[in-house]
Amino acid sequence: MERNLVLFGPPGAGKGTQAVWLARTWRIAHISTGALLRDEIKAGTALGREVKSVIDRGALIDDGVITKIVGERLQRRDAQAGFLLDGFPRTLTQARSLDDFVAVRAPLVVVELVVPEEVIVRRLAARMICSECGTNAPEESGSSDEREAATCHNCGGALVPRADDAEHVVRKRLEVYRLQTEPLVGYYGSRPTFCRVDGDQLADRVTAAIVGAVDRACGLSAISPPPSPPDR
Ligand code: AMP
Repeated sequence: MERNLVLFGPPGAGKGTQAVWLARTWRIAHISTGALLRDEIKAGTALGREVKSVIDRGALIDDGVITKIVGERLQRRDAQAGFLLDGFPRTLTQARSLDDFVAVRAPLVVVELVVPEEVIVRRLAARMICSECGTNAPEESGSSDEREAATCHNCGGALVPRADDAEHVVRKRLEVYRLQTEPLVGYYGSRPTFCRVDGDQLADRVTAAIVGAVDRACGLSAISPPPSPPDR
């Protein structure tokens, strides 16, 4: 069964953490546009140089550029059994292009992660990611001092704050989200495959709620095994 998912919600809603686990559970491709762009920056490519200043100031990169990247990525073999998009679409133009990309595939299931703004601001101020592989450090891994000393549970790399999690950039990203991405609720909201999940719960509960919502949306209740506690 092909599962084609969009996980959307404000920065800090937990999309990345949930996406890693869900993609592993369902053996579908995890496509994080933010991670793809950060990889380009790290590798010093022309695209990386082009997008760095835009990302650093919390704005969105050009629809055409990101849509081309996603269109190509969706054609790769590992995305044929399904995919989970994390960070795309972020505008109505991107959403329309995505509908074109999947016109002949299984319908999109769109999950909105809902988290209050004060929780987001707190989470992003504390977020650490791996400087090597970009994995998010688990939120519950202690005080910020302890976490600065900690290493990535995935590859052992050093943990660092994300450059665009600085407070003034977070404020800008939230504003961009409200203006450009939140309208997607209106675009997708009337589809039977649109679901809303409370993202302000323990990560395991959020995972279970997403699995239930996606299975219901796919008409698959009781087919997916209940998620065992993730190895976070
Ligand atoms: P994320 O890791 O999803 O929070 O993305 C980090 C940054 O990458 C965003 O703040 C944008 O600058 C850029 N970005 C990621 N995905 C997109 C997208 N779909 N459209 C435009 N810009 C994006």
